[in-house]
Amino acid sequence: MVQEKFDAIVVGAGPAGLSAAYTMANNGLKVIVFERGEYPGAKNVMGGVLYRRATEDVFPEFWEEAPLERPVVESNYWFTTDGAVSKIGFRTQEFGIEPYNAFTVLRAKFDRWMGRQVEQAGALLICETVVEDIIKEDGKVIGVKTGRPNGEVYADVVVIAEGVNSMLTQEALGMQKGYLAWDYLAVAVKEVIALPKEKIEDRFGLEDGQGATIEIIGEATKGMVGTAFIYTNYESISIGVGALMSHLINRKLNPNDLLENLKAHPAVKPLIEGGEIKEYLGHMIPEGGYKAIPKLYGNGVVIVGDAAQFVNGLHREGSNLALISGKVAGEVITKAFEKGDFTINSLAEYQQRLSETFVIKDLQKYQHASGYFEEHPELFYLYPRLASIAGKEFFTVDNIPKKEKQRIIMRKIFEQRSKWDLVKDLYKLWRVLG
Ligand SMILES: Cc1cc2nc3c(=O)[nH]c(=O)nc-3n(C[C@H](O)[C@H](O)[C@H](O)COP(=O)(O)OP(=O)(O)OC[C@H]3O[C@@H](n4cnc5c(N)ncnc54)[C@H](O)[C@@H]3O)c2cc1C
Repeated sequence: MVQEKFDAIVVGAGPAGLSAAYTMANNGLKVIVFERGEYPGAKNVMGGVLYRRATEDVFPEFWEEAPLERPVVESNYWFTTDGAVSKIGFRTQEFGIEPYNAFTVLRAKFDRWMGRQVEQAGALLICETVVEDIIKEDGKVIGVKTGRPNGEVYADVVVIAEGVNSMLTQEALGMQKGYLAWDYLAVAVKEVIALPKEKIEDRFGLEDGQGATIEIIGEATKGMVGTAFIYTNYESISIGVGALMSHLINRKLNPNDLLENLKAHPAVKPLIEGGEIKEYLGHMIPEGGYKAIPKLYGNGVVIVGDAAQFVNGLHREGSNLALISGKVAGEVITKAFEKGDFTINSLAEYQQRLSETFVIKDLQKYQHASGYFEEHPELFYLYPRLASIAGKEFFTVDNIPKKEKQRIIMRKIFEQRSKWDLVKDLYKLWRVLG
């Protein structure tokens, strides 16, 4: 085991930890990264849409060599009921050429690539090693205890990038308001289904090498707060569904049943038909947002990525928040190193700088959303149902004059939700999302 002292220790080799390590190593700091998986990405799950801008901020022009699946040219929202779907979406060829907007990725490949960049920048990446505890002295974090024999390792700063299962943040450091984070944990399952490239392009109406995403709201989560997704990879489809754990427990439902149900939906089945399941993955997502953010820094320690609850569930963003929080942490630690000051006062700059970025600004904007949706799961099935009722009536051609048809649609909608409740819903949605 490595006995020497490092400038910085990073716990966890996901996008947050690798971004912090890369930034610090490029700035000349002596960095060690511990990852419990066999390699970076081995244990990581994401839908997986990777955003170009945030990734480029850390790894310039990464698309030239990183293992990416497809640039996303089309993004869709589907609102499903049992047998129907209402759709909205956006497509542009501009997203299919440089500098791109987003890519689908498989984390097992992409994180491994990031890990190699970090090693090439000079950091030491130690896999299959669990950080079990934090070492403190006089109230300051001075190192970590790994599960290896004589596994204590020391550094001026420890970056906690352990992801959603934030045991060190909660227990060893006591920096997380545990109850709040737990209330808003979602659990998701995902399958990677292999299909020939041409079939994917035919079924999704894509040109050579281009990609599409579908976010699904409604029947897919059986009226629980959550979403489902379908993303095109190069020669596979990622399909998954997730919902708040508290809702799954209350409803005694299992995410795997939701996934089977989703795969059988008449709009979904033809997209995956004949495919072979290559991977089955499950993971948690921290959905608490702004109110669940832990204390982000202390004496000799900073928290980044999912461990800091940096996920914007409404926009399906997490990897970009992880990458940017890691980069900002890396830069602040580099500055602390130059000053020789790793105290809480010096590391407070991490939060100050992050507050100026979209990471904190977006979470702040949606700070009331998690609580509101948790209390109003009906919105997740009622509105897709209203869209389905209106859509079916609108598209049925049956000799009824259009004015009469309009009245029928409105009557059917008001049978489901009163005018007053609709106005209240819209007002509240505007308040929490606006
Ligand atoms: C189903 C699903 C779909 C998603 N879809 C998207 C999407 O499409 N786009 C998007 O941007 N985001 C998405 N996200 C969110 C995104 O995956 C996360 O926000 C992102 O991975 C967070 O990165 P991270 O580095 O903080 O954590 P992680 O990627 O979870 O990495 C943490 C790492 O720390 C390691 N670790 C943990 N504890 C220890 C320890 N004690 N010792 C050593 N190593 C440890 C873990 O093995 C892991 O490798 C999705 C998440 C899920 C679950």
